[in-house]
Amino acid sequence: MNSEIIDLHSHTHFSDGSLSPEALVDLAVESNVSQLAISDHDSIDGLLACDLSDKPIQIIPSVEISANWGKHGLHILGLNIDICCQSIQTFLKQQQANRQKRALEIAKKLRVSGVIHAEDDIGYLIDSQPMVCRTHIAQLLLDQGYVKTFQEAFKKYLAKGGKAHIKDTWFDLEDVIAIIKQAGGQVILAHPMRYGMGSNKLKLLVEEFKALGGDGLEICYPNINPGHKNLLATWAKAYKLCGSQGSDFHSPDKSWVKLGKFPPLPEGVEPVWARW
Ligand code: AMP
Ligand code: MN
Ligand code: MN
Ligand code: MN
Repeated sequence: MNSEIIDLHSHTHFSDGSLSPEALVDLAVESNVSQLAISDHDSIDGLLACDLSDKPIQIIPSVEISANWGKHGLHILGLNIDICCQSIQTFLKQQQANRQKRALEIAKKLRVSGVIHAEDDIGYLIDSQPMVCRTHIAQLLLDQGYVKTFQEAFKKYLAKGGKAHIKDTWFDLEDVIAIIKQAGGQVILAHPMRYGMGSNKLKLLVEEFKALGGDGLEICYPNINPGHKNLLATWAKAYKLCGSQGSDFHSPDKSWVKLGKFPPLPEGVEPVWARW
């Protein structure tokens, strides 16, 4: 039995995680993880800034890119990419500029909805940290007492139907797949069951994802139910896609998500890590 712990999805404070890349890797080593993908939202800046080569763990340089598929927003993991690839670096800078523009639009809508200092506060976030994600804005709303929970911040303001929701304007799925391939990475559809699609729609997505050059599905992540996991495994086998797994770790404060903790990849699915 392979007892290696391989975690192929995690975040640092270069996007919406709370730890530095060094602290994340130290925690992964403590948790007996032997391979860790650092996969920040739309950023490889943490990987470019930090030398992690002396850590006793295999780091898989990765990224989680936001993409549009019709009206749906998706997350696409690029695993084991060449972070020196100029094309992906330029692409991600554009994506970060889109994020900044979106943060300002959210700020305006929040102000109009009665969050009085939203523009100053979000402007400060933009100036003071590597990237602004909706998670940071949710935290701000919570800290200032506009909502009682993080979930409420999304429901009331930031998610679809919320007062400060901005429609996703990411690059199309096709372009995102192409850029990851250009950087030599494996293209993985992240957490497929979190998009709120019915199974027919999701199957259509998996078919199109494969046709556009997608490599695999993230099948194992915290809280996925066994029925969904089996369905994803069936599709992976049927469409000759490999399988990936990861905790999607953001912070030690979220004690219900731990590095390396998720169900094992089902039998008969080719593990993505067999490809590197
Ligand atoms: P962004 O990429 O800036 O749109 O932010 C997306 C991030 O916000 C996700 O990666 C999650 O970490 C978090 N998120 C999205 N929707 C929710 C939600 N309904 N409740 C809590 N966190 C959420
Ligand atoms: Mn996140
Ligand atoms: Mn995601
Ligand atoms: Mn993630």
